[in-house]
Amino acid sequence: MIQYSVDFAALTEEIKKRGYERVLLQLPEGLTVQATEFAEQLSEFEVYISSTPTYGACDIEVYPDMLTVHIGHSPIPNIKYPDNIIFVEAFSDASFTAVAELFASFHDCENVGIVASVQHIKKIQNVKKILESHGKKVMIGRGDSRITYPGQVLGCNFSAAREVADEVDCFAFLGTGVFHALGVRVSTGKSTFILDPYSGTITDVESDTDRFVRQRFGAIVKAQEADTFGIIVGAKIGQRRRALARAMKNMIEDAGKKAYLIYSDITSPERFYYAVDVFVNTSCPRIAYDDYLRFPKPVLTPIELQIALKYKLWENFRFDEIVEVD
Ligand code: SF4
Repeated sequence: MIQYSVDFAALTEEIKKRGYERVLLQLPEGLTVQATEFAEQLSEFEVYISSTPTYGACDIEVYPDMLTVHIGHSPIPNIKYPDNIIFVEAFSDASFTAVAELFASFHDCENVGIVASVQHIKKIQNVKKILESHGKKVMIGRGDSRITYPGQVLGCNFSAAREVADEVDCFAFLGTGVFHALGVRVSTGKSTFILDPYSGTITDVESDTDRFVRQRFGAIVKAQEADTFGIIVGAKIGQRRRALARAMKNMIEDAGKKAYLIYSDITSPERFYYAVDVFVNTSCPRIAYDDYLRFPKPVLTPIELQIALKYKLWENFRFDEIVEVD
């Protein structure tokens, strides 16, 4: 089991300082196995473990008479959160030393950009040292106003990678799963490798990228025949892009087609049986990508819609990213 450490003494002090007795404990899926253990640590308060899924610091559950303790993500700097939230960062203890040595010894990429998901962000400097000790040049981008740490990537923001893309030959992503690395690959055009500390493996995401791009192209082609569009607008504090949704609606109407705005808190594909031909997702970009096959109709991102309506060319295709919300 992956273990994450949390400083409960400091957290307890902070909750007392804020004067709350009732606490809502909100954890991402990977940490739910530790939820009861965390609740024990806070047993001097009335603790409720939230069963509502959360996928990021964009997605916070807040009630007026409770203090939300969100464990696992760092706050997104450019979001104005309510006052009754405490973010508690939880970093993985997993070591990247072996997999970084392997990458440095056997890979011929000389100028490497390092990026990481927040759980592994503290390991970037160690991996940098290892790669440099093998003669590689390492670059780490700062990222835009949605990014907390240099080198951090979110599933909806790869600005830290893009910033250094012109100076590197490839990217090393510290973490697990394909999604973030795929986003880095698509948004920078550079070869990207997943350095997984648990399996000790290095994975090139090239074949996933080909599959992904083919799927997106298929969705765009289907949308070209569509007459009616449902535009999904995220209700969550860090996913809401109403101005973008309105712009998409205008664009669709200017093309002589119909568009409806669908305000959505939890976007469950199985509930999306609206009488439209295509959905356009302005909420969390992962909805269009990860849940694509579960929706009854094709789901496009805003940029893909513009390509389908011929406002943009296929060469303009890129990953959907969020910078500002409204
Ligand atoms: S919007 Fe989606 S990808 Fe971005 S931080 Fe939230 S859950 Fe992650």
